[in-house]
Amino acid sequence: MDNLAALQQFLTTPKKIVITTHQKPDADALGSSLAMSGYLKKLGHIVQIITPTDYPSFLFWLPDNQAVMVYDKNKNHDKVRQLFLAADFIIALDFSQLPRIAPLDEMVLASKAKRLLLDHHIGNTFPADFQLWKVEAAATCELVYDFILLMGHKHLIDIPLAECLYAGMVTDTGSFKFESTSSKIHRNVADLIDLGLQVNKVQRLIYDNNTEQRLRFLGYALSQKLTLLPEYKTAYFALSIQEQQQFNTQTGDTEGLVNYALSIAGIRMAVILIEKNDGTVKMSFRSFGSLAVNEIAEKHFSGGGHKNAAGGKSELTLAATEQKLLALLKEYQATLQSCLSFGNYESQV
Ligand code: 5GP
Ligand code: MN
Repeated sequence: MDNLAALQQFLTTPKKIVITTHQKPDADALGSSLAMSGYLKKLGHIVQIITPTDYPSFLFWLPDNQAVMVYDKNKNHDKVRQLFLAADFIIALDFSQLPRIAPLDEMVLASKAKRLLLDHHIGNTFPADFQLWKVEAAATCELVYDFILLMGHKHLIDIPLAECLYAGMVTDTGSFKFESTSSKIHRNVADLIDLGLQVNKVQRLIYDNNTEQRLRFLGYALSQKLTLLPEYKTAYFALSIQEQQQFNTQTGDTEGLVNYALSIAGIRMAVILIEKNDGTVKMSFRSFGSLAVNEIAEKHFSGGGHKNAAGGKSELTLAATEQKLLALLKEYQATLQSCLSFGNYESQV
């Protein structure tokens, strides 16, 4: 971080701080926000986390979750705007492009507050005064951990903070199996365990906290809605509003579903298309090896993310979006056929 000394100086007196993160926050977005908030509160700052949208209930257990303000809840538009305008400092976590926090983006720009960015997504265009932006970081929680150490405050990390940090580290690495998993993040986790973190508690609260209806929906999607295209080494799901209503799905119920498609031996790219209430389609992409799905998401579906995990959206109908995806696969066929595999032991589709 370039101007750390200036930031340290800035934070020596109590500040009014707003922390914000991307739409539909995941465990890394929320975990990093809550860890940063917990840390800054210990330093005597007044901190408010504001998310642009709601998030899944399997994250409600995170320490201090009740203090998060969700935009658009309880007619809080004016209050949120006031908080941004009155802030001395805005911290942006787990995103680096302003549209990812719409409609909060214009409030960030309208505020005179200084801005700090901590993020690991490709394509940073965020107007930051201070930043710790590392694409090679496995999680924004890893960067919050690094930031606290850079500030010289490792001793302030307690168990609630460690749980928030671990939540993002474990989920953004796919339980330490994605390519982004480094020896460093394992060392960071080892440090957190030494501080008293119970990894089994966090893993159980995140992964083994399903509702019955979510599991039945997963079963339906896997048995009825998974399409395999061996010629493109691709598998995808397309889920309509009607199907989601049939299973009464909640925010977060489709999270992780796309990974099942990627778990099929020989599959190099997995996609999920989810029809939204407004008729648009939210897409998630996952890939294996050298296939950069963030490029596909950015070029064709107004999105972005990481090389092997990205998202985007489509204004077309679900059926038309599916057709667009199928047409695109032809363009990427050579890459899909050739991108890294682990040799002869990997089954073919
Ligand atoms: P997911 O598929 O789990 O929603 O997101 C995968 C990754 O892509 C995450 O790191 C997420 O922040 C990023 N991502 C998801 N949707 C979008 C999008 O619409 N635009 C951009 N730029 N990134 C996205
Ligand atoms: Mn992240």
